[in-house]
Amino acid sequence: MDFRKLPKLVLHYHFEGAIPWTLINEYLRAEKLAAETSDHPPWHFGDETRFSGFDAFRDIFQNYIHTTINSMERAEAAARATLEALARENVRYAEINWAPTFFWQRGLDYRDAYRIFEDLKSEFLETRGLHVRWFIGFARHRDACLALEHLETLLALGPVDGVDIQGDESQGRAGKFTQVYDVARDAGCFLKAHAGECDGPESVLEAVERLGVRRIGHGTRSAESEDAMDSLARLEVLVEVCPTSNFRIGVIESVRDHPLRMFRERGIKLHVNADDPMIFHNTVTSEHELLGRVFGYAAEDFAEMNLHALDQAILDDASKKKLAAEISSAPDGGTL
Ligand SMILES: [Zn+2]
Repeated sequence: MDFRKLPKLVLHYHFEGAIPWTLINEYLRAEKLAAETSDHPPWHFGDETRFSGFDAFRDIFQNYIHTTINSMERAEAAARATLEALARENVRYAEINWAPTFFWQRGLDYRDAYRIFEDLKSEFLETRGLHVRWFIGFARHRDACLALEHLETLLALGPVDGVDIQGDESQGRAGKFTQVYDVARDAGCFLKAHAGECDGPESVLEAVERLGVRRIGHGTRSAESEDAMDSLARLEVLVEVCPTSNFRIGVIESVRDHPLRMFRERGIKLHVNADDPMIFHNTVTSEHELLGRVFGYAAEDFAEMNLHALDQAILDDASKKKLAAEISSAPDGGTL
């Protein structure tokens, strides 16, 4: 089956971690920071590549992305290249996180980033049939007051599609962001949270209970608690699973160990995602292939996942209906 041709939705994708390596490499050479000529990142040596932990993963951002995406022109080129890559994979709807602090901490104006990203929405819908929704990603380890300031500044410019908290959960509890989420909820933003990745199932329960989210990024360690899994199923929380990401960072020992099959058997709704594809050297398509190879997932399983995602998508009813028909009528991935 040609997974690339399947019409797909993307729910868990980070702008900063998705910029194509070819572009980053071009900027590295322009800055005389590296003489890499390889078509893959230097830290990637094959399917078994793993980081020593979350900090090593975070160092990549510092060493390769912060040093190269150092102007709004480059940020715009990076966003455009990222959306192009998604369109080429026949992604029809994408929720992408970006962090105002990525710009703010280097003296760049994150309000300009908001304007650039918003403009790209209409361009890509028109030219590539790709619906883009931008989510503001707040780092868990940072001060919640700063998150609130950034959110309110952006809301003064226009609507914000959604908010998320991301990063190492052990360095910042979900509960400290309640005020941020209250403001976001009142402004009509979609709410989601990364949880159950670096920290245990209590981080998932806390995000669901304290922030009122019905979407969890990763959620992997919910498998350690009956309560957490029951809550996810009962409250119909959609879990964005990211198996390659979890393997490379060390949340699971092998992709086969990912609890996604158990989650599904317990009635938890799932959707598969690539997370930071440049860092993890994966794609939306390769993540589908992986689930096909390891768990025997076929076109109908992915259609089910994409329809769950579509249920929660920020789209009008007519667009949802059109996309649902496309997903349902391409069962073998080859009829498009
Ligand atoms: Zn993520």
